[in-house]
Amino acid sequence: MSFVRVRACILRCKEYVIINPNDPNNQKLIKLFEGKHRGHAIVSVALSEVKDYCKNVGKQLKEEI
Ligand SMILES: [Zn+2]
Repeated sequence: MSFVRVRACILRCKEYVIINPNDPNNQKLIKLFEGKHRGHAIVSVALSEVKDYCKNVGKQLKEEI
């Protein structure tokens, strides 16, 4: 399995989106995510670090794009 990284709001919202450099729409997704969590502490971390206590909101955000 390859090393998957995510953008995550780990302190306040406990949500994340997966970073996928091969997907052109992913950039929009990341921007939308960062916009929603403006002023929060957003970090880039490995998926394995957050998947147990954060929620993947990628699918939800894709519907808004
Ligand atoms: Zn947040």
